[in-house]
Amino acid sequence: MVKQIIKTVIDAFQPPRCVSCGDIVDDGEFLCNYCYEMLKTISPIERCIRCGLPKKQCVCKYRIYSFDGCVSPFVNDGIAQDVTYAFKFKRKFSAADFLAEQMALCVKNEYRNIKFDCITCVPMHKAGVRKRGFNQSKVLARKISEIMGIPYGDLLACTGKYHSQHKIKGIKKRFQNVKGKYKALRPLKGQTVLLVDDIMTSGATLDECSGMLLHAGADRVYCVTALRTEIKEKKKKSEENHGN
Ligand SMILES: [Zn+2]
Ligand SMILES: [Zn+2]
Repeated sequence: MVKQIIKTVIDAFQPPRCVSCGDIVDDGEFLCNYCYEMLKTISPIERCIRCGLPKKQCVCKYRIYSFDGCVSPFVNDGIAQDVTYAFKFKRKFSAADFLAEQMALCVKNEYRNIKFDCITCVPMHKAGVRKRGFNQSKVLARKISEIMGIPYGDLLACTGKYHSQHKIKGIKKRFQNVKGKYKALRPLKGQTVLLVDDIMTSGATLDECSGMLLHAGADRVYCVTALRTEIKEKKKKSEENHGN
């Protein structure tokens, strides 16, 4: 905590820098013009609206998720990843504003005909929130709720053990790791819910959380994440071989 305060004080005297290339930028900015122009967005026509992957990598044939769709503005790579990490690990909240705006745009465009009753987020374990000081998915969900005028609600709690999903390798293990880790906090009879997270990798967490929301009575669950990890060609082959 003390370290964090000292760092914040030191940062206040440093000129703001681009979170990706490190060039000096104007006050209040977090990306230089070059990096902003180079940001790679996912083209909506090229991706599967259900699993969120590029159409040629779609996994819907052999994996049925409990949610009805997942969209993300950016691929988990390069500049978009730098922006997300600057928010998540360096408390750059102006980056969160930008990500939330892009996520809201994505939702408006791709879930055009869907009327959401509520926005919620993937909850973080209490120990994780204590460590970081905030749940990044909740920050994004609250901002999207403000932009879109859809009420935010804490609909889920994390009751499982505290260990992070990103250290777990292998799709099957990721799905096993989240089983029973979340519970719904109230009945959601007939509601259509927008579920927010920062990054979708295997989709295991979103799948488990959506399952709990549906179990609590939600009618449909759609997801939006800031980043989407694309499957590397090699990985996809081994996944198919294991039949996950
Ligand atoms: Zn830059
Ligand atoms: Zn798909």
